[in-house]
Amino acid sequence: MSSPDLQTWKRTHYSKDIDSSMDGKEVIIVGWISSIREHSNIKFLTINDRFGNIQVILKNNEYPDSLSSEVQKIREHASIAIKGKVRSEPKAPKGIEINPIEFKILSLANKNSPIVIQSRKGVGIDTRLDLRAIDLRRPFLQSIFSIRYTVLNSCRKFLGDEGFIEVNTPKIIATATEGGATLFPIFYYDREAFLTQSPQLYKEQLTMAFENVFEIGPIFRAEPSRTNRHLSEATSIDIEKAYADYNDIMEILEKMIHFLWDEVRSKNKSHLEYLKIALPDLSLPFRRYRYSDLIEKLQKSGESIELGDDISQQKLRNLKDDDMKYFYFIIDWPTSIKPFYVKPKSTGTECESFDLMYGNLELSSGSTRIHDKSELTERMKKQGLNTDAFDFHLKVFDYGMPPHAGFGMGLERLIMSMCGVDNIRDAVLFPRDIDRLSP
Ligand code: ATP
Ligand code: MG
Repeated sequence: MSSPDLQTWKRTHYSKDIDSSMDGKEVIIVGWISSIREHSNIKFLTINDRFGNIQVILKNNEYPDSLSSEVQKIREHASIAIKGKVRSEPKAPKGIEINPIEFKILSLANKNSPIVIQSRKGVGIDTRLDLRAIDLRRPFLQSIFSIRYTVLNSCRKFLGDEGFIEVNTPKIIATATEGGATLFPIFYYDREAFLTQSPQLYKEQLTMAFENVFEIGPIFRAEPSRTNRHLSEATSIDIEKAYADYNDIMEILEKMIHFLWDEVRSKNKSHLEYLKIALPDLSLPFRRYRYSDLIEKLQKSGESIELGDDISQQKLRNLKDDDMKYFYFIIDWPTSIKPFYVKPKSTGTECESFDLMYGNLELSSGSTRIHDKSELTERMKKQGLNTDAFDFHLKVFDYGMPPHAGFGMGLERLIMSMCGVDNIRDAVLFPRDIDRLSP
């Protein structure tokens, strides 16, 4: 299509802006055809744009001959521009419809799509992911990604108001943050480098200069197994705060979740309705379970689990505890199963750490960090890390690293909890996992 067409067919209204008060008014709408129904000699077209849809009716044989070639091209998914009159029609889905005067197919649909637009579940995930951009036209995913957008904006607003500054740290790095097992190696000129698995060390360093920082950015993890909650490339919401400990951070995190819930409730009403989600009322503070108490609770319920073990999703599921249906923290984890930078409590065996959970899904991990260089070096050695490789990091600790704490939270996990999504792949536009590298 040549650009003069776009000049001729400039949209005058989005579907959401057309209502029955505009009866008789001429408008130009632009969008794609999401459904075609035929009834005796009438075609009912649903035209979607980014804010919704509107019905267009086309009576066979009641359009000028000059349009018949365009009518031939009408097919689901085609892009179309329609000049027409608004008409009140109580039987139409929104009480209005458009009667076309003229229209033009701006881009043809050459094939029938395997993706059923109105379906909530859709066809198999692989078929959907192979044609993801088309899949994303479904209201189910439109709702999820509209909510995701609100969450991102609201996170920025909340953290900005709390005195955090947004930063962007390198994604190409020389050394693993938390051990090397899940790193993706890449070529970096004549050297080996890695894609970052977390902005951890950089955000810690930045507390020296900016005190309170946050980053919303990609993390890369070569997750070895196929699960519904792991991606190879995810988006992490990370914060780090100077002169704070893990209790301060939990307070910020629960306040932030509360704020996000309120924002989505007010800004995404129609999307929540479509998803049939009633966001539960949240009361603060969230419950805090000590790790050791939870282990005891699990043991009492018959699970075979020992102090020092990680707590699996399945074990939490088995507990069937109503108090653990929504948000809660698990705090004071064993030092031995948390990364080297997490600060041990005075006992040494437990550390100042938390996981934020939603039901049995881990959303976030956070902690007080070690700010003393010799203590940090010791912890690295204990975990078998090569301290020379962390020299770039350790050396800034010689210059007054403030005590600090923070968290990392998976955005896609948060969206799963909010939107009731079972598979994390539907919380990201183009998922990456062990089997999938395109589209
Ligand atoms: P898990 O135990 O669920 O694999 P983790 O404890 O290894 O997660 P952390 O290193 O604590 O993950 O990362 C902080 C947060 O980042 C997690 O709580 C989770 O929300 C998110 N996250 C981590 N790895 C992934 C991943 N592969 N895909 C999606 N989100 C992830
Ligand atoms: Mg974790």
